[in-house]
Amino acid sequence: MASHEGRVKDKFRGAILGCFLGDAFGAALEGLDREEASRYLSDEFYGRYTDDTDMTLILAESIVDSRSVNPEDIAKKFALHCDLSRGYGKGTVKVIMALRAGMKWNEISGPLWEKASSGNGAAMRVSPVGLFFHDDPDELRTAALDQAIITHSHPLGQWGSVMQAASIGISLLQDPGSPPDAEEMVMRLRQILSPGPIEYLRSLDKIEGILGRGRVAETQEVAERLGNGFEAHLSVPSACYIAIAMAPDAKTAIRAAASLGGDTDTIAAMTGAIVGARVGEKGLPAEWIERLEDGPRGRSFARGLAEKLYETWKENHLAETH
Ligand SMILES: [Mg+2]
Repeated sequence: MASHEGRVKDKFRGAILGCFLGDAFGAALEGLDREEASRYLSDEFYGRYTDDTDMTLILAESIVDSRSVNPEDIAKKFALHCDLSRGYGKGTVKVIMALRAGMKWNEISGPLWEKASSGNGAAMRVSPVGLFFHDDPDELRTAALDQAIITHSHPLGQWGSVMQAASIGISLLQDPGSPPDAEEMVMRLRQILSPGPIEYLRSLDKIEGILGRGRVAETQEVAERLGNGFEAHLSVPSACYIAIAMAPDAKTAIRAAASLGGDTDTIAAMTGAIVGARVGEKGLPAEWIERLEDGPRGRSFARGLAEKLYETWKENHLAETH
């Protein structure tokens, strides 16, 4: 029992640190096209995280404090803690400024997010939800939508959050050492995503088709067929495919995600989180983790927060089963 618990706890750390790692690794290449990103890809990355990890940590803190997903508390914490020097997009800055000015979270996202609401900002931060609800797909779906709605009014932005959270939850339940059971993973993703937009179900068909060939796709094909963009439906499926095709090799997966070009930090952060939920911190490259910044909200803080999230999940879980 103790070793099983230790393994689950390590997977919580793996997903949060995997997000951090992918984010920092991909940040140097953000906005380059695929050929440029492949050319400049380097293991000598600077370990500074961006908005993806910043929001992930805040969401994890809110879940620990609320013992659930509470949009009001999340919005309050976004207003208090988002560090706008960390590469936030214009749309998110607008939402955070509105929250800081005292607007209510449920009065903002519609009018302000008319154009950018299908972006991947809700998906990039959702790993704590995938971890916390890994044992309940229906609650996972509801919680992923609830946390997305604060900033994303468009269903594509909201359901990208569901696909990413579900990929993390399913990965956590799979064996860390062996390659993922791709068929099982796609089948479970389809069940969770079935009430959502057709775009995600189509992307699962494409993922299934590529996986069915039995060889890993080139980055060009992944970028062209699944996407490398800033919109959720053109980035979450790519992260999900790469994580399935390349786990348990976290380094190869993060390199592949960053070499897609486009929104490299977010796609690599999402890939790192999914792979990390499978392999745990033990399966992530220690020499890369060492490179991550370690200031007040750096890698030690992130690791400790992942452990608190695990403890909170365990207490809730025990309360439900006794
Ligand atoms: Mg970023």
